[in-house]
Amino acid sequence: MTLERAETDDLERLLARIGAGLDSYLHFEHPDALRFADDWRRVLDQPLPEKGVGIDAVTEELAGIVVRNGSPIPRPGFCAWITTGSTTASVLATAAAGIASPQRYMPTAFNFIEELSLDWLASMCGIDHLRGVYSSGGSVANLIGLGGARQAAFEAAGRDPAAEGIDRPVAVYASAECHRTIQRACGVLGIGRRAVRMIPCDVGGRMRADELERIVDEDIAGGILPMAIVANAGTTNTGAIDPLLAIGAIASARGIWLHVDGAYGLPGVLDSRVAPLYDGLEFADSVIVDPHKWLGASVGVAATFVRDRDILARAFTQEPADYLEGSIEQDGGETPSIEHSMDDFGVRYYEYGVELSAPCRGIVVWAMLKEIGVEGMRERIVRHNDMARHVAQVARDHPDLELLQEPTLSICCFRYKAPAGVDPDRLNQRLYRQLVRENTYMPSTTRVQGALALRPCFIGARTEFEHAEGLLDAVLRIGRELTSNG
Ligand SMILES: *Cc1c(COP(=O)(O)O)cnc(C)c1O
Repeated sequence: MTLERAETDDLERLLARIGAGLDSYLHFEHPDALRFADDWRRVLDQPLPEKGVGIDAVTEELAGIVVRNGSPIPRPGFCAWITTGSTTASVLATAAAGIASPQRYMPTAFNFIEELSLDWLASMCGIDHLRGVYSSGGSVANLIGLGGARQAAFEAAGRDPAAEGIDRPVAVYASAECHRTIQRACGVLGIGRRAVRMIPCDVGGRMRADELERIVDEDIAGGILPMAIVANAGTTNTGAIDPLLAIGAIASARGIWLHVDGAYGLPGVLDSRVAPLYDGLEFADSVIVDPHKWLGASVGVAATFVRDRDILARAFTQEPADYLEGSIEQDGGETPSIEHSMDDFGVRYYEYGVELSAPCRGIVVWAMLKEIGVEGMRERIVRHNDMARHVAQVARDHPDLELLQEPTLSICCFRYKAPAGVDPDRLNQRLYRQLVRENTYMPSTTRVQGALALRPCFIGARTEFEHAEGLLDAVLRIGRELTSNG
């Protein structure tokens, strides 16, 4: 065997080895990666290999050393930001597509499932009137939705902004609590981050519809083109849901594109206690959701939904190219027959966003939904929302804790009460640092009306009710330690 021959087979044996390493990782008996960083860095820090070591040695090092020193994100007590470890179905689907469908295009079973799973996802989230396209995450999904908005706004004014660029000032309206990828998307789309008008929120972190209406009408009177209104279906800070019905009415009365950022919170619609807060989604021209957040997909799976994907094709087309169209397009026949998967590209997702080469992501969503059904997803979401409500209840009742925001979904912002003379922000910052270093319960922090908050966000499929209780106990214990020692 020459050295050029990479292993291209033998997956059963090698995946079993990786699988064993991953199963052992999932017992979470290992310390944090940085605890013994000197040891693994010494092993891994090698010069560029001139000679290969072969697949067995690579597999051994991957399973034995790299995996063991992986991320804390999959831990059941991890509840920081909005990110989580993937479930097994998602890992299997990713591996399967890696071999059997290296691209999402061409009408194979994978390409078919790409579309089927988008429709399933839309149906589960109550947006049946929209068609989707996958991308790598909420950042790109927002960019795609706002690309559709830019196209619609300028086409209505007689211009193709994707082909010719923009020729007048525009504004995008988003709440002060919006995810900052909205600003970035506006920068990338050439309208500028500063085109985003930050609409004030009420005390619940929800966009004030009265302020929105006033600011939009002022801009229209001032000759500014309103490109989009962005509403949150679950803010990243606190999980608040903007008043979608009122915002939708303002948008539709003025013909403004309504984009709903549901990267985290869209699946919350499955919980009947909060489902009415999603009324108004029917006004949306674009909606995003990240299956790699609450649904437990491996990272790299987001979806943008719009009414008609042709507008995305106009916003994101690369222009025809010989290297693509030449090999696919049938010449002239009335009904070109498609008999081989190389005869067609299938649904042209690569025209609906910014990626040409891209993995099959639908297979992941399909596998996860197939495994536990909508019923399973609903139970998980209700369980996580229950956990946030439990933390809120305890924080409200306990003399040493303070609830900073009523939870809407699975995020709860609270903190340890500081005794007189102690700065509560500094105390909670110290408490937080110690909590994380104990390596069991790992929320993140944010600010609510300026106050530093401990912010658990329960979305992990491995995260159970006992982890919410354990987090509370740990916060109380550390808070007591820090305040009794001064
Ligand atoms: C996480 C998040 C995003 C960004 O998504 P990524 O997948 O991290 O790129 C956008 N909007 C909201 C509301 C989010 O919570």
